[in-house]
Amino acid sequence: MQEAFLHFVWQHQYFDKKGLATTEGLQLTVKRPGYINTDAGPDFKEGQLTIEGIDWNGSVEIHVKSSDWEQHQHQTDDAYNNVILHVVWEHNKEVKRADGTVIPVLELKNRIELTLIERYRKLINTPGLSIPCEGQFSQVNDVIKIATLDSMATERLHDKSVFIEEVLKRNKGDWEETAYQLMAKNFGLKVNAEPFQLLAESLPFKIVKKHGSKKDEIEALLFGMSGFLDDPVDDDYHQSLITTYQYLKHKYNLEQKLNKFRWKFLRLRPANFPSLRIAQFSSILTDSQSIFERFLTEDAKTLAQWLRREPSTYWQSHYNFNSTSASKIKGIGASTFDNIIINTVAPLLVAYGKQIDNQDYIDRAITLLQDLKAEKNRITRIWEYLDFKPTSALDSQGQIQLYNNYCLRKNCLRCSIGTSILQHR
Ligand code: SF4
Repeated sequence: MQEAFLHFVWQHQYFDKKGLATTEGLQLTVKRPGYINTDAGPDFKEGQLTIEGIDWNGSVEIHVKSSDWEQHQHQTDDAYNNVILHVVWEHNKEVKRADGTVIPVLELKNRIELTLIERYRKLINTPGLSIPCEGQFSQVNDVIKIATLDSMATERLHDKSVFIEEVLKRNKGDWEETAYQLMAKNFGLKVNAEPFQLLAESLPFKIVKKHGSKKDEIEALLFGMSGFLDDPVDDDYHQSLITTYQYLKHKYNLEQKLNKFRWKFLRLRPANFPSLRIAQFSSILTDSQSIFERFLTEDAKTLAQWLRREPSTYWQSHYNFNSTSASKIKGIGASTFDNIIINTVAPLLVAYGKQIDNQDYIDRAITLLQDLKAEKNRITRIWEYLDFKPTSALDSQGQIQLYNNYCLRKNCLRCSIGTSILQHR
């Protein structure tokens, strides 16, 4: 028996209530099981019961055995003084609250249908399957599956917005600087995310935007602070950037934190070389007095025109300094643009909507994701194999959240698909 299963049983009241009584034989009626407490303290809050005709309002604690109460040290914790019922699988010991009073106990051992226990075992004991419910997935109603994905996608956006709130705090509430740093990190893809983030943190957006339309000065700042100008290269353009960078570095008293060895080129396609990404990022920053403001107001098409801008003339024919390309190089590709909307723009909108308590921004984030093509990756392929194909990036984000945070951890009792399988008779 697992405690998580008992939580599920109590939450949905899936037990036999005939002649319901505490282990002391006192008549018990459950008026309300309470709501799940995700913070510290008892498992369910604001439950309502009647014991021998007397009303009780308070918390409910769940354990496999009543002796677990003492194992978890609740007998010395005042937070458990308002527990009105101890729900256990097996009652093996009388336990008391910190104030010395005995807690009424409900034992569930003989009150849960064996078929429900069997269905639960079948659901989580499934080694070798793509997800625990693979064998039962097709029997779940499509409406439940779609609703689950929607709530998972929203949960994922909220999770990402929590990270943004931390970055915002570090930037003392400056949304523009935060958007700039997040976009930089996104530009580095997974492999160069960290140096890109360091670059943006060491070169504030407020300095970059002072250079307005002067693309070469912006490139000098970015390449210089990245460490790409530390050693001379036999290339006139490289030399001219060094001269500009040395002047600007001194002017702004900049502290360079990166050197060129922090950037990874290995196994990357030339189109993803960090040198080219920095050039494309410089192009976006040219003539851009705001980033966050644009994310808030511009539609996906206008954002694409901006974020997919071509790099400067030199970088249209170079992947790196002194490394030419036969074909003309353009701005970032469609999948990188989608990635920026998914990982930077939409979560920023959600974080902002939450901060100013305006649902419109959260809805806008959802619409942006609905309008993007679904991602294709290892996780979406698992769902496709189960005949559950994502139709947009909102779906694929929901699938990633569901798989990583629920399926992999066997959190099936917290998933609507799982509860639907258990309810299936
Ligand atoms: S978490 Fe939900 S979707 Fe994932 S395996 Fe469990 S029941 Fe299935």
